Amino acid sequence: MIPKETIDRIFEAAKVEDVVGSYVSLKKKGANLWGLCPFHHEKTSSFSVSPSKGIFKCFGCGKAGNAVRFVMEMEQCSYIEAIRQLAQRYHIQIEEREMTQEEKQRQDDRESMFVVNEFANKWFQSQLHDTSEGSAVGMAYLRQRGIREDIIRKFQLGYSPEKARLWEEGKKAGYQETYLVNNPDTLIGTGVCLKDDKGHLFDRFRGRVIFPFFSVSGKVAGFAGRLIKQSDKAGKYVNSPTSILYEKKHELYGFYQAKQAIKREDCCYLVEGQLDVIQLVQSGIENVVASGGTALTFPQIRLIHRFTDNATILYDGDSAGIKAALRGIDMMLEEGINVKVVLLPEGEDPDSYARKHNADEVLAYIKKEQTDFIRFKTQLLSDEAGNDPIKKAEMIIQIVESIAIIPDIIKRQIYIKDCATTLQIPEQVLINKVLEIRKRNLEEKKKKPHPSGPAAPTPTPGAPKDTDVATPETPDQPLIPQEPISEESNKDRNIRNLMQLIIRHGEKVIYQDEQVAVRAGEYIINELKRDNITIDHPLYSLILDEYLLHYQEPN
Ligand code: ZN
Repeated sequence: MIPKETIDRIFEAAKVEDVVGSYVSLKKKGANLWGLCPFHHEKTSSFSVSPSKGIFKCFGCGKAGNAVRFVMEMEQCSYIEAIRQLAQRYHIQIEEREMTQEEKQRQDDRESMFVVNEFANKWFQSQLHDTSEGSAVGMAYLRQRGIREDIIRKFQLGYSPEKARLWEEGKKAGYQETYLVNNPDTLIGTGVCLKDDKGHLFDRFRGRVIFPFFSVSGKVAGFAGRLIKQSDKAGKYVNSPTSILYEKKHELYGFYQAKQAIKREDCCYLVEGQLDVIQLVQSGIENVVASGGTALTFPQIRLIHRFTDNATILYDGDSAGIKAALRGIDMMLEEGINVKVVLLPEGEDPDSYARKHNADEVLAYIKKEQTDFIRFKTQLLSDEAGNDPIKKAEMIIQIVESIAIIPDIIKRQIYIKDCATTLQIPEQVLINKVLEIRKRNLEEKKKKPHPSGPAAPTPTPGAPKDTDVATPETPDQPLIPQEPISEESNKDRNIRNLMQLIIRHGEKVIYQDEQVAVRAGEYIINELKRDNITIDHPLYSLILDEYLLHYQEPN
């Protein structure tokens, strides 16, 4: 048990803005700090932190509480576990006794798996640093790649020997087999060990250099192991199996080590592999993460977006992967991230380039060569299309597709102007095409169930219901001209009425305390977002965009 005085000291030390700020990029606006909510998916900030009250509050999803509650939500852990984490962070000593076997049993799966991963991580590191095989094979490989000792320690690189016996050590230390192996059905277990037909355990990563993956708060979530000796049977890289802690395609290598620098620099460099990250960090550039070489996923993109609005992607000069990556980059645009692209000189990848240059030289190169993604895509595709008119027409559509998914209307307009000039096409043609694509995308989205929410909008108590908005409370002249009834669907009519409400009464304050004021318009828009109700009417969606833009302007 933790004494009450200790808990009080922890509460005193753990300033909410500090704790939240280590996960979410916050910007000061009035007395409060604002950022993108880490608990629900949003593109504009409705998540606020009040330093004077010591609380956070999200007007989008309703999550609220103090610093401890925040850690509990972020780490999906118990109250006690959150207290322990904060104590560690603020160097407050908690007198703890050794856990009994019974208590070990009671720990939930998640915690147990983190413990097993941490144990394995320490073991891999000691194998690399303190054994002759580790030094002759693992360390020799890392030295040959030019990686310094301090960087090896920073990323906690390790080695799993040929005749590995992590499974033996793990059992000896009392860890249950359930957590050492992995059950693909329940996603329980770290999978650092495997089981053969006869039920014997053996190690997954033997003969490999180990790259641990960390959670945002620095717990070991999983591993990638790189084979040192050539083999026909085994793949060059092996990853931890999918579990409740780790899914390869959702991870960003190096994020934990980079997060402070990403916030500080307000930019995230994106590369392909672990060694690209490590070499850039060694050269002095810290705000860099690796996507693992496959197409980007929304969880990866949202993780980046919690810390910055700006991403710069570093590509090999001769990479054939650029075209394959275009879709992933479109997803970043859709999320509201500003994307730039840098092509490295031919024959170089970030790993090799960073080994030959220091941070200033690498940054100077990036600064000189970085191109806005839409311009980059235009250049790439128009080189390819040449003078072929059909290819050229296809190319224009592809570029307009990218512009159409950018959520910010001002940015869209700027890109349209820019492309109209470069491609020598009348602006109005591009505007019409963008509207057409936006409409189509919204219709498609409506058909597909939302990935992180209910398939169909469910009314929430207090949220505007269709029947409420069908009859505007004031009999004023309509602000938005009514379309002929036959062409206006029920939903469109409701939305039109809702728009009128927002425009007429959106500025009215419906909730206020000393720290925040919530206006009716914000509230309605957040409720719509929460229920996944999309505005697909081109004119109304335009009005809504404009409105959002207006109320986000700092006063
Ligand atoms: Zn939220």
